[in-house]
Parts: sequence; C-alpha cells; structure tokens
Amino acid sequence: MDILKEINGASTIGIGGHIRPDGDCIGSVMGLYLYLSKVCPGVEIQIFLEKPADIFSCISRIGQIRTDFHTEVEQFDVFFALDTTKERMGKAESYFDQAKKRINIDHHISNSGCGDVNYLMPEASSTSELIYDLMKDRSQIDVEIAKALYIGIIHDTGVFQYSNTSPSTLKAAAELISYGFDFPKLIDETFYEKTYVQNQILGRALLESFLFMNGKCAVSMVDKKTMSFYEAQPHDLDGIVNQLRKTKGVECAIFLYQLDTLEYKVSLRSNGKVNVEKVASFFGGGGHERAAGVTMQGTFHDIVNNLSAQIAVQLRETSRWDVPGGSHVPRNY
Ligand code: 5GP
Ligand code: MN
Repeated sequence: MDILKEINGASTIGIGGHIRPDGDCIGSVMGLYLYLSKVCPGVEIQIFLEKPADIFSCISRIGQIRTDFHTEVEQFDVFFALDTTKERMGKAESYFDQAKKRINIDHHISNSGCGDVNYLMPEASSTSELIYDLMKDRSQIDVEIAKALYIGIIHDTGVFQYSNTSPSTLKAAAELISYGFDFPKLIDETFYEKTYVQNQILGRALLESFLFMNGKCAVSMVDKKTMSFYEAQPHDLDGIVNQLRKTKGVECAIFLYQLDTLEYKVSLRSNGKVNVEKVASFFGGGGHERAAGVTMQGTFHDIVNNLSAQIAVQLRETSRWDVPGGSHVPRNY
C-alpha cells in the first residue's frame, strides 16, 4: 500500500484506534499523525482516541488528540482505523463509517478488514512497525516520529521479548533509535515503571490468584470495589496477566477486571500451547495467538468455567501431537 497515493486529493483526514488505547495503538496513531502533518502540510488532520495514560505524555503533540468527539468536520475524506477493527473504535466508529474513504491498518489475526483499503499483516509485531514500513519517504521521519513508533513496538513486543519479535522488528527498532532519543529512559518510563498503586494492585492480584487444570492455568480478578478503593483506572492493571503467565508450569493465564455487575474485561496470555485468539474469538473477542482479550457477561465463576472449557479443548488437541518420541505431524494430515 502506498499511503500517499491513497490519501491523494484529500483535504481532511481522520485517524483513530481502539478503545482503552495501548502503547501500540497510541504510538501508531501519533506516528502516522506526525508524519502526515509533515508530508501534507495543507491538509486538516484530526486524531481521535480515548485519553492516553500519563506515561505517553512524552510523545510529541499528544495533546492534539481529540477525546471529545465533537468536530466541525462531519465527513472526512479519508479516515484511518489503526490497530483495530471498526467495532472496537468506540465513538470514532461513526466518523470511520461516514468517511469517503476508509483505510484499515492492523496486525491482529482476528481482523478480516473493515476498510475500503485494508493493510493487514498478522505476522507483524505491531501496527507501529507496519506504519514505519509504510513511511516510504524516509527523509521525512524525524526523532519525534521515531520515538512514537518505537514506543508502539516496545509495548507490543514486551521490549522485544515476545515471539512476535522478528528480524524485521529489530531492524525497524535499530533504524528508529538511530534518530537519537534516550531509549533506555523511554523503555523504563513507559514500560517498566509502575506507580505505587499499580504495584499494590499487582501484588493483591497475585496473592488472590489461583491455579487450576493441574497448574496449567492461572487466574485472577480485580472487582469494581477494589478498583475504586485504589482509585485505579484500567491501564493501572496492565502487566498483571503477563506476570501470571510467567508462573512456572502455566500454559495459559487469565485475568479479569470488573466493568459492571456481571460484566468483565478478560485478558488472556499463552506460553505457546494454547491459541488464546481462538478462545477469545469464540466469545466474540480477538487478538493474537499468545495475547488476546474479550468482554464477557456473567459471574466470575461462570466466565472462568466457560473459558476453561475452550482452553481444555486446545490443550487436549495439542497433547495428542505431543507424544514423546512420536511424530510431530498431526494425525489428520
Ligand atoms: P489485552 O489483554 O492487553 O487487553 O489485549 C490483548 C490483545 O487482544 C491486544 O492485541 C488487544 O488489542 C486484543 N483485544 C483485547 N480485548 C479485545 C476485544 O474485546 N476484542 C478484540 N477483537 N480484541 C481484543
Ligand atoms: Mn497492536
């Protein structure tokens, strides 16, 4: 895809991502915004996202993000949906729907494309990596654009740790740090650093976690009462599910936080044997093979029971092939 060709002739452009935006969503939206602002100076560009967490205030012009969703422009010539399907765009979905041309750029395997033009690369580490690949005019990339995209990449790869990290991810990151920014500081301040409250909730969630399926699953939950006791926002819970995943012997980690009475946001993480994207998709969510999410209705116990049935299906399927000394080829091939 040639972005500049796709937006040729547009006088208004909108860019949006998903609800509860994470580092990759914010990094890709801001990276594209900063780039297009430079390469098409006469064009009005607006960005729509829910308010980003404070850690992202180091990104240049982050204050330009529109969170109020009231705009003079009713219909954009082009609207980008980054790192998402249109259903997860929240209030920006109507702008996307009404746009004369809709462009969808994403790396989620569960996304089958919702634009007039779709650029979907499930093998890419992050949407930020895709956006970097699409910036064909490298001479326009500057340190602020590089920083935004680098933040996106480190957040979706867990600082180059997860299996979605590829040689091209590292090549992109190498090129991005050559623009010259303090990347160790950026990694610490946007990825590893936790507030005292975030650490307290993490500790509490780990204390209250339990194992089931012979130690292959770890689960924990934070309810609304606890969230309000700590005055915590959803982004304060980032990292809990990943810590559960690191428990020795665990194949699949489940973390829930309560959105409402009988409504929970579910995060799933896998160490490789369970395709959590399949589990999440079964209940209407999505994501990637090793990291996925979904919103579910019911009691905590009902939800965990329903999820474990799907996880069990996959663990059994996998174990059929896992015969010591046996063939690695599945029987039905
Ligand atoms: P997290 O557990 O960190 O919220 O999300 C893990 C991955 O799954 C991310 O790539 C995220 O975009 C995706 N994801 C999380 N929740 C949902 C959901 O409700 N629907 C879809 N389609 N994807 C989700
Ligand atoms: Mn992403």
